[in-house]
Amino acid sequence: MAYKFIDNYREKGARKKLVSLLRDVKKIEDAGVLAAIGKVPRHYFFDETFWSQAYNDIAFPIGEGQTISQPYTVAYQTQLLSIKQGDRVLEIGTGSGYQTCILLELKAEVYTIERQETLYKRAKLFLSKMGYKAHFFLGDGSKGLSEHGPFDKILVTAGAPFVPEILLKQLKVGGTLVIPVGDEKNQKMIAIFRINETDYDRIELDTFRFVPLVGEQAWGSL
Ligand code: SAM
Repeated sequence: MAYKFIDNYREKGARKKLVSLLRDVKKIEDAGVLAAIGKVPRHYFFDETFWSQAYNDIAFPIGEGQTISQPYTVAYQTQLLSIKQGDRVLEIGTGSGYQTCILLELKAEVYTIERQETLYKRAKLFLSKMGYKAHFFLGDGSKGLSEHGPFDKILVTAGAPFVPEILLKQLKVGGTLVIPVGDEKNQKMIAIFRINETDYDRIELDTFRFVPLVGEQAWGSL
């Protein structure tokens, strides 16, 4: 895929409209999240042929049978995380790297892991060309990244059959895990808050549709 870093009035205007939609219709309230979506050129993650679709509120294929998440989903998950400057965030499922950029715009330190080598390589190269700095890993994110934990926030961007115990252990006390859990078709967004060494609070939210989290602690081996 050939990338072009051209952000002209048409794309800027479409991005503004997307932010208005997320704020006024989809009721995303976090000003930082809306500002980040207003800043990151989502069309850069698309082949130029599809730029006209980049600011529609839809998921879109990025190859390898995977998708760049719908902007509403990115905003929804990020809002739930309440990112603070300097938070150490583990993102499971780098995909295109768009969500990574949103976390970086919120001044998080991002550790992101992807199981598909092509996507991992592409996102790593592409984000560095855009001037974003994250820590990229290739591997099975369903097991987390214990050697770099614990994390203030953990974000899973693929649908899991259950909450992997191992991820809970990699969360700092006071930290938040956001993970869609369900079957292969629909998942409920779950937010888990670590209260202390042994206790966690859990809330179940809206229904979404993600590509599956494939891995040892998910839908089988890679
Ligand atoms: N956040 C991404 C974006 O903004 O483009 C969208 C991610 S896409 C919906 C889900 C990603 O999770 C896919 O790229 C898929 O390959 C990846 N994935 C699935 N299982 C995984 C695992 N066990 N470890 C790491 N990545 C995984």
